[in-house]
Order: sequence, then structure tokens, then C-alpha cells
Amino acid sequence: MIDPFGRRISYLRVSVTDRCDFRCVYCMAEDMTFLPKAEILSLEELDRLCSAFVGLGVRKLRLTGGEPLVRKGIMGLIRNLSRHLDSGALEELTLTTNGSQLGKYARELADCGVRRVNVSIDSLDPEKFTRITRWGKLEPVLAGIQAAKDAGIRVKLNTVALKGVNDDEFYRLIEWCGENGHDITFIEVMPMGDIGGENRVDQFYPISLLRSHLAKRWTLTENSHRSGGPARYVTLEETGQRVGFITPLTHNFCESCNRVRLTCTGTLYMCLGQDDAADLRAPLRQSESDEALVAAIREAITRKPKGHDFIIDRRHSGPAVERHMSVTGG
Ligand code: SAM
Repeated sequence: MIDPFGRRISYLRVSVTDRCDFRCVYCMAEDMTFLPKAEILSLEELDRLCSAFVGLGVRKLRLTGGEPLVRKGIMGLIRNLSRHLDSGALEELTLTTNGSQLGKYARELADCGVRRVNVSIDSLDPEKFTRITRWGKLEPVLAGIQAAKDAGIRVKLNTVALKGVNDDEFYRLIEWCGENGHDITFIEVMPMGDIGGENRVDQFYPISLLRSHLAKRWTLTENSHRSGGPARYVTLEETGQRVGFITPLTHNFCESCNRVRLTCTGTLYMCLGQDDAADLRAPLRQSESDEALVAAIREAITRKPKGHDFIIDRRHSGPAVERHMSVTGG
């Protein structure tokens, strides 16, 4: 699949549920309304959709959410999808998770061929962690990370940089990752969805500032490592550690975008920061053959836009897109 800008689409992110056991302040309102269960694709339908994408050249599949590991029966889906790893059609099957259920599932994930997971942690202070996630507890997440490591799964931390919230913890987070052998990527907060009383301008911490902050402590060298994603990396010369930055606001990275995003209702978003989407549920359900589905996917790829237009400033403090990050899973 090649889009109109010559970019090869080889990466599918799938939000398997919009539900989550956390309510992170920058992600969701506390009283979120979730989709009625009837609208959500069954695990068999998700498998069929993912498999159609693999057939069209997707080499990397990431399950996300909501919280992917709270979806009932999720391990059955992961085990079924792992057949594409066994056949060599898929290079990587991975997850982005809040880690709350990792302790329970890490071994089975490793057994299904999952080699890396991204775990979202914005603070190593238990009280602050609960303040940010509203409903989360740090301790089971740390235990989950340890379980993943013990099972041979590499862990990368994803940390959203939040002004006045965790900007005093960046050194500590990096050092903790260094001590425990994890990578870390910092992310700028994106204006997605209504989050109740919270104000995006108040939350926004530009990564350019974070870089200069880190440069006070370490010598940063630009690193050529590319994960196939939007992160840019630096190496901390003193420790050899790699630190990534995802900067949707301060630096647009769309020119190398290789991904599309599927929601748990079968809607395909060709860009995280735009509203245009394609309904794949109707062609999926229309017939047992994949012909209409494949045609709908191919048509959607011809509509992949050049990039997003996120802005956060005093004049633009509302959402750039109406949907929450939990719809497409980031
Ligand atoms: N529940 C899983 C997790 O916590 O990683 C997967 C879904 S969560 C929506 C995926 C990632 O998006 C998390 O790292 C989260 O911190 C991030 N995220 C959510 N809302 C965001 C926003 N408005 N801007 C930037 N990152 C956001």
C-alpha cells in the first residue's frame, strides 16, 4: 500500500477497546461515555481485519486502546494473530499498555511472540501517579514491567511531558530507565478530545525545552536510530542511554509516516490528527469474502493526508480533533 505522497503503509495500530481502567487527566474526562458494546467489533472481526491488512503488506501490528489488556478475551486474539509472526508475514506484534495487567499476562505475551511493549508512565511518585491517572496505582504497573522484563520482553516507557506536573521528574525517570535497562520516550501532549475542566495550554510542555533541560545534566548526541515511528533519539554520552522525543507540536514528523489507525468499531483513521476516516465495518460484515474490505482499505489509503495540524496556544486551547486519544490509541 503506497499513499499519494509515496509513503509505504506498513504499520497498523489497532485500538481494541475504547475502555480503560485509568482516567489520565490529559487523555479522558473522568466521566467518559464509552461506546455501547454492540458497536464494537468482535475479536474474530478484529482478527479478520488485521489479517486483511497483513495480506496487504502491513509488517508491524500494535494493539492499543483504551487499555488493550482489559478487553475480555484479548489473549485469544493475540495468540491467533501470532500465526502471522510464525508465517513470517508479520515482523512485529506489539502493544501499548498502561501496564496494570502486565503482571498477569507478560509470560503469555512472550509466548505469543511479543518481544517489546510500550508502557505509559508519567510519574514514579505513587501519589502523583494516582493524581495523573485518577484511578491508577503505580505499584502493580512497576510489578508488571518487572514481569515483562523477566519474561524477556523489552519495555519502553512512554512519558507525556506535563507542565507543572512531571517536569520535575524527567531526570529521575531517565535514570530509573537507565538502571533498569528500559528505553524511554517523552511525548508532547496533543489537543485531542474534550477532557473536562483541564486546559491544554496549562498542560503543554514543549519538548524543545525538555531537551535543553536534559542538556544541563548530560551531553546529548543526535542518534540516527529510527524505530519506524515518529520518535527522534539522542544518546546521553555519559551513560550511553537512548532517549526519544515525540514532538507533534514543535516538530512535524509526518513526512515519514508509515501508519494508519483502526478503531474498535472498524473505523480507519489515516492520520492521528485529522478527522477523515473510512468505515471498514460495513464492507467487513457485507460478505464473508474480503474483496469489498480490501477495496475499501485501498481506497482509504488514497485519502491519507500529508499531515496533521496540531496547535496549542492561547487562541487554540480546544481540541484539534473531537475524538479522544483512546479512540485511536495514539
Ligand atoms: N492504555 C494504553 C496506555 O496507557 O499506553 C494505550 C492507550 S493510551 C491512549 C496511548 C498513549 O497515548 C499513552 O502513552 C498516553 O499517555 C498517550 N496519550 C493519551 N492522550 C494523549 C494526549 N492528549 N497527548 C499525548 N499523548 C496522549
